[in-house]
Amino acid sequence: MMGDGGEPVSEPRVRRLVAPNPGPFTLEGTNTWVVGDGPSLVIDPGPDDAGHLRAVREEASEIGAILLTHHHPDHAPGAARLARLAGASVMAAAPASGERPLEPGDVVEGGDVRLQVVPCPGHTADHVVFFDPVGRALFTGDAVLGRGTSLIDPPEGDLADYLRSLERMAALGAEVIHPGHGPTVRPAAPKLQEYLDHRRERERQVLEALRGGPRAPAEIVPDIYRDYPRELHPAAARSVLAHLLKLEAEGVVTRVSPELERFALVEAGSAHAEPSPDGKDDAPTTT
Ligand SMILES: [Zn+2]
Repeated sequence: MMGDGGEPVSEPRVRRLVAPNPGPFTLEGTNTWVVGDGPSLVIDPGPDDAGHLRAVREEASEIGAILLTHHHPDHAPGAARLARLAGASVMAAAPASGERPLEPGDVVEGGDVRLQVVPCPGHTADHVVFFDPVGRALFTGDAVLGRGTSLIDPPEGDLADYLRSLERMAALGAEVIHPGHGPTVRPAAPKLQEYLDHRRERERQVLEALRGGPRAPAEIVPDIYRDYPRELHPAAARSVLAHLLKLEAEGVVTRVSPELERFALVEAGSAHAEPSPDGKDDAPTTT
């Protein structure tokens, strides 16, 4: 429903259809969100699964646009088939051929819903989330999940970007999160705070692990992911590397063995130290 100014006045209907691709990183499967009516907007059609896409098509009846949070294979490949089925266009921040571009701040309109495009890089460089200011609902893709945490896998993933994205999402004042995987989260604010706290705690643990000397991500993982199943350890090592790269960019750690991806703490005071005139670095500092 629209008010006199053409602004939506009531919360759009939100429906979740789960694609049949369950797994350790997709939880029960990818969530496809059908938002609003007459026409609906569809977020993340998921893999190219004919049965799932038919169900999405039927749930939406009419589709105004198909929106992608990012192009990972569990979110985007179904978009082309759904677009053909529904005669709708596909929109993405980094559009593939045949897709239309989404710009930061764009507003995508359906019948009774308007979604703002909010850039949220971190999981991928082109990741966006969608915000419905009337329902105060945030559609987060892989930026926030219904359970567990999002994988930040360098170089595609960037932890510093991701932390800024979490802050940006928190500033929207959303009440509910509809994630790319797992159940809806309500209220939204504590979940975003939990995500920020979690990464700060991991950073502290990574720094702690380097106190004994230089180490590589795979050597740090068994310490700080003790309670995680072993099959998740390789992914955990990517996450630790994401922390180390952020800390390296901040000058807090340095890479001592590039082949082994070993990192060491930068000693306090030495990061910007000039060599002393006699070539020795051990001159006492007075400042
Ligand atoms: Zn995903």
